This record gives sequence, C-alpha cells and structure tokens, in this order.
Amino acid sequence: MIITSPTVRTMITKNRRRVAMAATAAAGALTLAACSSGTASSSDNADAALTVAAAFYPLQYVAEAVGGDLVSVSSLTPAGVEPHDIELSPATVRSLGETDVVLYIHDFQPAVEDAIDTTGVTAFDAGSVIAFAEAGEDNHEEDAEEEGHDDHDHGSSDPHFWLEPALLAQYALAVGDEFASLDSANAATYTANAESLAADLNELDDEFSTGLAACQRTDIITAHEAFGYLADAYGLTQVGIAGLDPEGEPSPARLREIADIIDQTGATTVFTESLVSPRVAEAVASDAGVQTAVLDPIESVADGDDYRSVMLRNLDALREALACE
Ligand SMILES: [Zn+2]
Repeated sequence: MIITSPTVRTMITKNRRRVAMAATAAAGALTLAACSSGTASSSDNADAALTVAAAFYPLQYVAEAVGGDLVSVSSLTPAGVEPHDIELSPATVRSLGETDVVLYIHDFQPAVEDAIDTTGVTAFDAGSVIAFAEAGEDNHEEDAEEEGHDDHDHGSSDPHFWLEPALLAQYALAVGDEFASLDSANAATYTANAESLAADLNELDDEFSTGLAACQRTDIITAHEAFGYLADAYGLTQVGIAGLDPEGEPSPARLREIADIIDQTGATTVFTESLVSPRVAEAVASDAGVQTAVLDPIESVADGDDYRSVMLRNLDALREALACE
C-alpha cells in the first residue's frame, strides 16, 4: 500500500496552500525557540533549518522522525489533551504564524484551520495525500445539531487515518517531499528519513496483519469511532459507542443496538480510551456483563510512549479481546 512518489507530489502540488513566508524563516526559528515554553512541546533546536507546527501528536511524530535534527517541531495540542475541538491561545496562534509550515488535517480541529487562515502560514493538509474515508452513519453529529453545538464541525470525512500504519507511512513520504521542497539544501536527508520511517511503519502494518489474521471474533466495540481505517485494513468491524467525536453522547437507541451487537457477536470487551471519560463505555460493558480494556486512538501520548509503543499495546489488546491465534 505505498503511494508512488510522483503521485504524492502531484497531489501535494494540487492541494497545498502556500503563502510565501520564506523571508521570515530564520526569524521564525528563533522566535519559536524562544516561545517554545508556551507551546505544548517543542524540540529545542534554535538552529533548525525548518520550524514546524504539528496540529497534534501523530503528525508531530512524523515531523520529528522525518526532520530529525534539522527541524524544530512544536505541537499545537498539549500532551495529555484530547485534540478534537482544541482552542488556541492568541500567543499560540502568533507562534504558529511564525513557523515555516503547519501540519494539520482538514475538518478535524476548526481552531487550527482558523489560525492558518488568520496568519496565512504555509499549511500542509494530510487530506491532500490520504484519501479520507467518508464518515459512516454518525449518531453524534445528529445529536450535536439537536443540542445546538454548531461549532462541532467535523465535516463528512473520517480523519483518523494515522491508526492504519500503512497510511501513516504514505503520509511520512509526503511530509518528506514537503520538507524537501521547503528546504531543498537538506532534501536528501528528509527523503531518506521519510523512507526509513515509512519502512518502520510498513513493518508495523505487517505485524498487525499477521497478528489479526486468525481471530475468533472480528467486532470491536470502541468508545469513539477512531478505528475505522484500522478495522478496514485488518478485516475487523468497528462498533462505535460515540461517533467520530469522542464527546458525542450516544442515544438510548444506540446503546440498545450496541447491547444487541455484544450479545450477537459474543464480544468479551468494550474498549475505552485514556483521554476520554470511560463512564459510558463502562456502563455498556457492565450492563452486558463484559470487561473493558484500553484501545488508544493515539490522539496524544503519555511521557515515555510513542506511536509505535502504543500501537503495539493496541495490537496486544485487540488480540486478547478477539482471541487471535
Ligand atoms: Zn478522534
């Protein structure tokens, strides 16, 4: 599942928003380093060739791996914060405007898109290289409209592509191309780093394929619908309690439907998340007489963890819940 580089380049060129900020690149690097204590996290690198603001953790993970010592990466979503619907302080918006490029996903974090529009900073949308799946039936969005939460605009596509390692590998190659075009002097390094990360991620994808190849069950009951790409990639079926947004409250009808699915599929586990209250998932599990376990959507990571380590824990949790060989 590797997109060839020419395809990636074409798509990037077609979709990239580019507002020339090259003249301020050096100043931006210094300013960001000076302000980095005010942002969520940042590699300390005042001599960085590129300064990058990543909208949230998985994009930060890719930026750091592809950029290595050459880039200074800040995350717009603080560690331990759930990134859906984050708000940005004026200071964060200003420092975002001083970076060379913002990595983001459209229709996921409206505040980030507003900041990009306001500052005119160069921005690279993951949706320009990944073909996002259409959102399925989404009870949450209907509920949100009924409750008048007009600011919950998640669009109609599913942003959670990073939970399929092969898609994150495609994205890594595209970020390599993006960095190479912004800093052509170091293009070869970015390209090599991107290829190395993509190889690691494709290897992780193989581990998932193998680990989930022969399981007694294939339905996964999840807290929010973050695992659609993962489920599709490995032959599983996702049953989300909330919709694409973790704050969605399921309707009583949806809860009855999930109880029926647990009954019919013999599911043993309702998955919860570390950043979202497990209250509803625990109630569903308790009513059905099954257990809970953590399946992490990696929208943020705890200290000492990274994408790969959490994904391997997710694989273990899935293999256990689904009784895989
Ligand atoms: Zn999510």
